[in-house]
Amino acid sequence: MTAGPGQPIWTEQADTANAKDMAVLSLVIAPDPRLKAKCDPVKRVDADISRLMDDLLETMKEENGIGLAAPQVGILKRIIVVGAPRGEADDDGEGRSTDPLRMADPEIVWASEETATRDEGCLSLPDHFAEVTRPATIRVRYRDQDDELREIEADGLAATCIQHEMDHLDGVLFVDHISALRRRIILRKLAKSKRQNGPAAAAAV
Ligand SMILES: [Zn+2]
Repeated sequence: MTAGPGQPIWTEQADTANAKDMAVLSLVIAPDPRLKAKCDPVKRVDADISRLMDDLLETMKEENGIGLAAPQVGILKRIIVVGAPRGEADDDGEGRSTDPLRMADPEIVWASEETATRDEGCLSLPDHFAEVTRPATIRVRYRDQDDELREIEADGLAATCIQHEMDHLDGVLFVDHISALRRRIILRKLAKSKRQNGPAAAAAV
């Protein structure tokens, strides 16, 4: 997910200790059948999956996203990463976690009736944004990079971002939440720019 034009983006360099092991992957741009697929469960997070989570984070930061899902790099597995900060900061900046989340097989176990509407963008639909309404607070169960089962509560931008990324695992894009007319306009523009960028860009995986 991208957080709308003019939103803060990654300014810090990647953790240099690990940077040499990480890879920036090529993004799948809509329209593409891989973005409409239902992804397979991971079931167990092994070293390969854990490395893929790091690569997804590296790719997300490189592309100035705040979240990324495995199908966006052409891997049809239920894996997402989320960089949106969680929780409210107090005056000293405490209480706000900026640690990115690495999630396999995420599952929403509770969602608030209260909703929030935010401007959403997507690295697979570059330069397009739309307001989407979703539950404001969620509880999510998932497997982390060490294959530990975890459960967290998220609200604010993190809640929106987790739901946006989880949608990708079922082949749902943010434009599927808006009117059919606006969706068609956006997808037609993307298809056109893909054709104009030539077969090399269209074939990137
Ligand atoms: Zn997206």
